Amino acid sequence: MRVLIVGGGPAGAIAARDLALAGIETTLVERAPQGAKPCGGGVSLAAFGEFGIPSSVIERSIRTLTLVSPRGARADIALDDSILVMVRRQVFDSMLREMARAAGAEILHGNVTRAWVDPSPGVRVTTDGGRTTEIGGDILLAADGANSVVARSLGRAVERTCFGIQEWMELSPPLAARWGERCEFHFRADVSPDFYGWVFPKRETLTIGTGTALSRARSLPRLLSTLKRSIGSDLADRPILRREVFPIPIGPIGMARPSMYAGPVLFLGDAAGLVMPTSGEGIYYAMKSGEIAARAIRDNSARPGRIGGAYAAEWKRAFDRRYAVMGRLQAFFYRDDGRREKLVAIHRMKGIPEISRSLWLDHDLSARTLLSYSRRLFTVLKEARSQGGGGAGVR
Ligand SMILES: Cc1cc2nc3c(=O)[nH]c(=O)nc-3n(C[C@H](O)[C@H](O)[C@H](O)COP(=O)(O)OP(=O)(O)OC[C@H]3O[C@@H](n4cnc5c(N)ncnc54)[C@H](O)[C@@H]3O)c2cc1C
Repeated sequence: MRVLIVGGGPAGAIAARDLALAGIETTLVERAPQGAKPCGGGVSLAAFGEFGIPSSVIERSIRTLTLVSPRGARADIALDDSILVMVRRQVFDSMLREMARAAGAEILHGNVTRAWVDPSPGVRVTTDGGRTTEIGGDILLAADGANSVVARSLGRAVERTCFGIQEWMELSPPLAARWGERCEFHFRADVSPDFYGWVFPKRETLTIGTGTALSRARSLPRLLSTLKRSIGSDLADRPILRREVFPIPIGPIGMARPSMYAGPVLFLGDAAGLVMPTSGEGIYYAMKSGEIAARAIRDNSARPGRIGGAYAAEWKRAFDRRYAVMGRLQAFFYRDDGRREKLVAIHRMKGIPEISRSLWLDHDLSARTLLSYSRRLFTVLKEARSQGGGGAGVR
């Protein structure tokens, strides 16, 4: 069996590594080996152990998440054990591809321009890495991100529910004093009508960004400049090293997920729209989809017709409940500034920061715990509303 993978981001690289380790002939095609995928670069520390990623690529360990409300109220979530870390994608993705190469995967530099399923059966892609080459295989993994060429070649709609904008700045000493070990999340309609704005530090840089629904993507520059002005610290006047705009395909909210496979083609990571609602975490779930796809291929190599179904079924078992819960939380809390004010206020109540910390960063929560946590959030919110005022019931 030969597996072709288009895209060497977190999803494709982890799939390639695991397939090669299972002794399966694997070819990964990446068009921008020196590129840096637009991203905030926040990853849970646990992912490093889970996927065997060297900690040398960690740029910053975060000790506090600060939530900021529309009226400027703040609530801190302590991460004493630094369970959230920051990476730069250029370095992180290169490391993942290197791990795949070391495991025995073939890594090619090329831009895939078309993918199709042969009646033989088999899959083929054409790459244009200077000259056009055709590559064939038995299974194709579409890990080519939110603008997936593979998905479009096969006539499949690509999920582009949300767009993000992000600017990079130098992390000068005054900025490092405020954000050296802190990430900030800003909840207010004029920064994001349906998601949040963020400030994430790296080793020598700071990224400031916001996201919103595709239909409002044109307003992103305005939303970002409001965020910078509201934060202060002269952010609005500091030189911008780089600005990037890119889709954030947040998993479907309130509707069924489209099929994660079509015959011998499996869709992974952003190409399958797997970014988690509420948190916007996509790197972990992309890597997880790579791991699950590789396992489905390994376990069903004698019955290739079952691979897609096995992949989709394991994904559903592992994460469907979490997407549903996080989707409900996003739809509820990110709706208007009154709710955002309360969202931040309840994070000053005893026990609530710990719940959010787990919902965002603990990937092993049981379905039962997930439900009980989300119920608790809705209950305290209702109590805070019945008492009136954003600060009601807070510590
Ligand atoms: C502004 C912004 C901030 C974000 N911040 C965070 C964050 O802090 N934490 C987090 O967890 N998630 C974040 N995300 C989401 C996260 O970046 C994605 O979910 C994640 O990168 C998905 O990984 P992937 O491997 O599926 O796709 P990608 O990372 O997009 O990788 C796809 C790869 O395929 C390659 N490729 C594409 N087309 C072709 C082609 N035709 N031929 C060959 N190669 C191709 C690309 O070069 C790329 O290397 C953010 C997203 C955005 C836009």
